[in-house]
Amino acid sequence: MEEQILRIKKDFVPKYEDGYPLITEEACANPQILTEEGRPFRLEAGDGTFLGRGYYGRQNKGLGWVLTQKEHEPIDERLFQKKLAVALGRRTSLFMDETTNTFRILNGEGDGLGGLTIDYFNGYYLLQWYSAGAYTWQKTIVDLLFQNTDAVGVYEKKRFSSEGGYVSDDDFVTGERAPEPLLVKENGMTFAVYLNDGAMTGLFLDQRDVRQTLRETVPEDARVLNTFSYTGAFSVACALGGAGHTVNVDAANRSLEKTKEQFEVNGLDPASHQILVEDVFTYFRRAIQRGEQYDVVILDPPSFARTKKTTFSAVKDYGKLLEQAFQLTAPGGIVAASTNHAGLYPKKFRAFIYEAMEKTETTGRIKSTFRLPEDFRVDADYPDGNYLKVHLIEKSAEGGLL
Ligand code: SAH
Repeated sequence: MEEQILRIKKDFVPKYEDGYPLITEEACANPQILTEEGRPFRLEAGDGTFLGRGYYGRQNKGLGWVLTQKEHEPIDERLFQKKLAVALGRRTSLFMDETTNTFRILNGEGDGLGGLTIDYFNGYYLLQWYSAGAYTWQKTIVDLLFQNTDAVGVYEKKRFSSEGGYVSDDDFVTGERAPEPLLVKENGMTFAVYLNDGAMTGLFLDQRDVRQTLRETVPEDARVLNTFSYTGAFSVACALGGAGHTVNVDAANRSLEKTKEQFEVNGLDPASHQILVEDVFTYFRRAIQRGEQYDVVILDPPSFARTKKTTFSAVKDYGKLLEQAFQLTAPGGIVAASTNHAGLYPKKFRAFIYEAMEKTETTGRIKSTFRLPEDFRVDADYPDGNYLKVHLIEKSAEGGLL
């Protein structure tokens, strides 16, 4: 496809000169030329100065991505080959780690390829496409994966419906089909994942460091409350670390079977744990009334959620969630607060924590902070890609001011 010329408005030129990778509508002088998904363009300032090369791929957050700032470099198979080789090279230590066989091998713009992520699951690869434009490179990328890795099979998720969400489909692409569940290893823990069962696989790879730290630091026999628990991956880490009892709360029916399975594949008895299919907010009210106390309370809500009973928006409601969590945490205990919402900025998230401590008269401190792990590479010129924020907050042993 022949490349078009996309012109950047004067005020935005310095941003693209600096290496900003996302094409936004407001930055373009002639966005109307973008009609053909996947078609490459040459990015120019009004005076014709070269700014970069990219492709048109409309997603919820923009019109496409810049893939190179080198004038002699066309967008073709060679460019993808180079990006993939560099991305794989950056993960050499993870490929060599015998205790881990699941991680991200290409993180969109963080690896210079906005619109696509690729995850590795013990011999299988999962590609996630964020626009129809990115998807036009599907065959090229799949072929390159087989040429450059020991791929057994390839799966994909198309995340570019008109609402920007996942398009349900048979997600198997080629090679051999993976067993269901497929067992993967992370720092010696086992997780059951499903590559062909809807939008999510059962394991969020970006929480690897948090799971490992929970496992290493959870007190022996701790009581753990894991909210928005999904398949219970945090609880598995805590239980393997010596926690005595975990309570898992998630509103989705699927969480019951899937959480049981995660315990079982780790040789843990699900019967010594509680798995509740319930709205977290309902559970919190009851637990506070009953005076329940936990040594570890984990909060990992989605950015937005609507259940039959409640709606939740991280930007608006995270503070309330923290207040309830502090009330349920025993003196000396830990609240693990996580958000994957890019729009809840680090400063605001910390402010929520301090406000909730004040309101509940809790004393304590943020003991450790996590951002994305090394394989979820972030483009320094695109801080929005650095979405994950997790704090472990330790409540002081005296319990509080009261
Ligand atoms: N902590 C999990 C991931 C959480 S994903 C992990 O580490 O794997 C978010 C989960 O929140 C989903 O499983 C969804 O079903 C659940 N959820 C959303 N709103 C909820 C609510 N009000 N009450 C309980 N669960 C909710």
